[in-house]
Amino acid sequence: MIKRLPLHTKILIGMALGLGFGMLCIQFPAMSGFTIDYIKPIGTIFIRGLKMIAVPLVLASLIIGVANIGDISKLTRMGGKTLLIFIVTTIISITIGLSIVAIVKPGHKLPEATRTNLMELYNSNAAGKIDFAEQVKSRGPLQPLVDMVPDNIFMATTNNGAMLQVVFFAIIIGIAMLRVPKEKSTPVIAFFDGLNDVIIKVVEFIMLIAPYGVFGLIASLMIEIAGDDPTKAWELLYALLWYSLTVIGGMLIMMVVIYPLLLRSFTKINVLDFFKGMRPAMLLGFSTSSSTATLPVTMERVEKHLGVSEEVSSFVLPLGATINMNGTSLYQGVSAVFIAQALGLDLSLSSQLMIVLTATLAAVGTAGVPGAGLVMLVIVLEAVGIPAAGIALIMAPERILDMVRTMINISGDAAVSVVVASTENAIDEEVLKEHVND
Ligand code: ASP
Repeated sequence: MIKRLPLHTKILIGMALGLGFGMLCIQFPAMSGFTIDYIKPIGTIFIRGLKMIAVPLVLASLIIGVANIGDISKLTRMGGKTLLIFIVTTIISITIGLSIVAIVKPGHKLPEATRTNLMELYNSNAAGKIDFAEQVKSRGPLQPLVDMVPDNIFMATTNNGAMLQVVFFAIIIGIAMLRVPKEKSTPVIAFFDGLNDVIIKVVEFIMLIAPYGVFGLIASLMIEIAGDDPTKAWELLYALLWYSLTVIGGMLIMMVVIYPLLLRSFTKINVLDFFKGMRPAMLLGFSTSSSTATLPVTMERVEKHLGVSEEVSSFVLPLGATINMNGTSLYQGVSAVFIAQALGLDLSLSSQLMIVLTATLAAVGTAGVPGAGLVMLVIVLEAVGIPAAGIALIMAPERILDMVRTMINISGDAAVSVVVASTENAIDEEVLKEHVND
């Protein structure tokens, strides 16, 4: 019977059991060691498996994605459309974040004592992130562009954080394949096409352990958040509840207003069907906090359950997982203002516009890995003149917000792929009708 449960139900069960088990471990600390030693590794293996396949998947699917588009003019059209929607949705998400943080004013709800307490507690931890961001910032204005071009593609493929370089390389190779004579490109395309299918099969294998992996991840996460003082986690989370609720509220608006509007305006897909089809990928984004790790499943769901053609999905999704992060940009906007509020700083309109601009760029530069959004937030803060040490304030709920924002990042990518596919007449209605609930 269990075998026949849909994947998202199995993942949900895994999460719920993991949560319960994690709580149990916090109550009975003797179990914690066992959990970390013997249960956490299942989660780690699962995530490693997904990460293992991420670079080959992006490489093969984007090369095929570009090559399959067939001609440069179509590529320009689809690429233009995709980038335009990415930018518009990113700006909308930041604006929503800035609006609700201005209304809720979570920063003003933090008592003075808690604030100093938190700053002290996390200061050393924050320092590492700031150092890194400092290095990023001290380079020239065109550095992000320079960073996109790998100086050695094999090195780039050994670092999941350098996905933008892999994306760049794959697109160039794809375009070059459109420019060489057909008899030369055909075998190369066939090779990558086959490789792509093999990779997807590997993803299916990895997904077999998804529910157990998720169980291990959530259970060990609970133990790690609690540390040696179980009440600590909850106290800190409570102190930052308002801030977290603001971030989550903004993301909810994206989910229940903006994406449905986008889908309604440009596609015929039923909004509920969209979310039903995407459930497993969203849950996985939540459990892994990594859009890159979730990418294989996002692609599978969009193609095999929402009916988006491979041509569109293999172009839009790897690109989206790397540069389109609506959840992250919203989070960065809210967090910047929250920190400013908490430190008693007033933000002018021009500072707010600066946040929109820098958060858009920061989200593009954020790698689809856990915690990357927090590092890039430092750049936003510095650009507006908010003390970067303020990230110490928001470190406590970071992990949970990372989980939620990753889920939004993934939904955003999927929504854009459905929109692009609809405008290109590339949705298979039969697949959608028959497999959306699987
Ligand atoms: N964890 C996020 C992602 O993979 C990035 C972030 O930290 O915001 O999408």
